[in-house]
Amino acid sequence: MNRADSRLTLAPADQALVDGVLARNRRALAKSITLIESTRSDHQRRAQQVINALLQHTGNSIRIGISGVPGVGKSTFIETFGLFLIAQGMRVAVLAVDPSSSVSGGSILGDKTRMEMLSQRPEAFIRPSPSAGSLGGVADRTRETLLLCEASGFDVVIVETVGVGQSETAVAAMTDIFMLLQLPNAGDDLQAIKKGIVELADLIVINKADLDPEAAALARAQLKSALSMLRHTTPGWEPPVLVLSALKDDGVASFWAEVTRFRDVMSASGEFMAKRRGQALAWMWELIDRGLRARFRGNPQVRSTLPTLVEAVAMGNTMPTLAAQRLLGMFEGK
Ligand code: GDP
Repeated sequence: MNRADSRLTLAPADQALVDGVLARNRRALAKSITLIESTRSDHQRRAQQVINALLQHTGNSIRIGISGVPGVGKSTFIETFGLFLIAQGMRVAVLAVDPSSSVSGGSILGDKTRMEMLSQRPEAFIRPSPSAGSLGGVADRTRETLLLCEASGFDVVIVETVGVGQSETAVAAMTDIFMLLQLPNAGDDLQAIKKGIVELADLIVINKADLDPEAAALARAQLKSALSMLRHTTPGWEPPVLVLSALKDDGVASFWAEVTRFRDVMSASGEFMAKRRGQALAWMWELIDRGLRARFRGNPQVRSTLPTLVEAVAMGNTMPTLAAQRLLGMFEGK
């Protein structure tokens, strides 16, 4: 980005937000996130200017993605882990990507009883999933919120998602390290392997080991052998499988030790920043693709011709190649 772009003069209200976020003021952070999540176009414009002004202050946290089916213990884990980080002198932000919240109106972090102790700590900032729009839109808002949290000096940003659907891919694409939480039984890991979520994981944690330590050890061995046959998304890193109990606060320190080892190994090889650069570029291209698609579908000529051509292709009367060429031609005004 051109440096001049980030020095655009901001309106006084927006400059106050930028200053407040940098001063680690929670109200300013919350207000900036509300601006990001607003669907009003004037709010969107202001939000982009605020983020742009803060961009040079981002990048200093470690971004951890956490996934797992409902009931596996995500919020119990985040509460225990968050309190552990605070005890080490760190500040932690917890965000979520839950596209189902736009349907149900609720969200995975909406329930006030979750992470009760963590939510009362001034060193923690917990924000539910944005509830408006498609997975792409929800993920965009969460990425932007993550950047604001970094500018506001949080050392660790956790992005939580439920272990169903495409949201894991979106969260893995915005975090440095992606962790999968599993139950200590064989059926659970088979499900995750089948859905392709295990391939995304940089770290697998078997929770609730206190209930049945033997079953947990067996699940660990099975997952380790399954992992040895898979190709991993992060080169130069073999995902460890840990066994812990979030409820009994047993094993969280070794989880943090693995996260920092990951950061150190990846930083030494240059992969850490390479992954972030790749993620930023992939995000830009995704926005371009989505934007082009929306414009294509919104083009008046395309809109009036599309149903006829769709029908013709479906009936086998027109070649898909020809139909695509004609529609793209109309879009380009040819
Ligand atoms: P989430 O839906 O993934 O966020 O799961 P929760 O954190 O709400 O946990 C679901 C249930 O599992 C709750 O009743 C927790 O108390 C319980 N739980 C979570 N972690 C553990 C654990 O390590 N051991 C045991 N025994 N129970 C746990």
